[in-house]
Amino acid sequence: MNKILLGSHVSYKSPKYLIESVNESISYGSNCFMIYTGPPQNTIRKEIDENNVKQAYELMKANNIDSNNVVVHAPYIINLASPKKETYQLAKDFLVQEIKRTSQLGFKYLVLHPGSKLDSSLEEGLNKIIDGINNAISKTSNMNVIICLETMAGKGSEVGRSFEEIKLIIDGVINKNRIGICLDTCHVWESGVDVSNSDNVLDIFDKTIGLDYLKVIHLNDSKNDLGASKDRHENIGYGKIGFDSIIDWVYNKRISHIPKILETPYFENQNGDYVPPYKQEIEIIRNKKWWEFK
Ligand code: FE
Ligand code: FE
Ligand code: ZN
Repeated sequence: MNKILLGSHVSYKSPKYLIESVNESISYGSNCFMIYTGPPQNTIRKEIDENNVKQAYELMKANNIDSNNVVVHAPYIINLASPKKETYQLAKDFLVQEIKRTSQLGFKYLVLHPGSKLDSSLEEGLNKIIDGINNAISKTSNMNVIICLETMAGKGSEVGRSFEEIKLIIDGVINKNRIGICLDTCHVWESGVDVSNSDNVLDIFDKTIGLDYLKVIHLNDSKNDLGASKDRHENIGYGKIGFDSIIDWVYNKRISHIPKILETPYFENQNGDYVPPYKQEIEIIRNKKWWEFK
């Protein structure tokens, strides 16, 4: 049997936070998962309760979820490429806080969008991102959290729209042990790279950046055509990437050790409620057989 590491984005919310995240993951049949430690669009964060964390770890252990495969996603408000002074300072400070929180939770990977440069030049954007990351790493030098830069779709003025741009950021990071990459299949596709054959993409990735830097995969289908740069995720098998290509990624042995996280949209069921697709998506991927679930 092929062991696959597959899970989804889950909520992290009151009253039991991480315990609820783990329970939600278990309900989908996941063996890895991803959380935001608070609302992605603001900086309000609740103090982490050690007791909750301890109980959550016991629950993970009993259900075959290795904490090394749990991912934290930094909030979107962190924009290290911003030419606006206050936005940049907030991003720098908040990144340090997010690394501390990830470390406090005992997790290894923090996914970060490189940022949007707005009307500044690419070079300015890249330099700001590099400085912000180096600052955060040096201020958390006793922690081993790896900042995983996410490959972006290229919407608006997003930096990190190609493997080359991501590579330029990594080149500037001093402590290379603390930097990695999160490859989002929808984003890569919409940035103009055909993801239908995972080996081809991994070869390009390896040549451009080095496969060792790849730490997390965001597994999403896309609503749009190759190169659309719009960033619209779609449910597995309902989009332009398609089920067979998604299966090709999940079962590629070169990346079998890497957690694959679904960030596909909730859908409306017969009662008019918006429900998560993850249980069904994990089932069709594990069975390698697609069926219409929404
Ligand atoms: Fe993301
Ligand atoms: Fe993503
Ligand atoms: Zn996206």
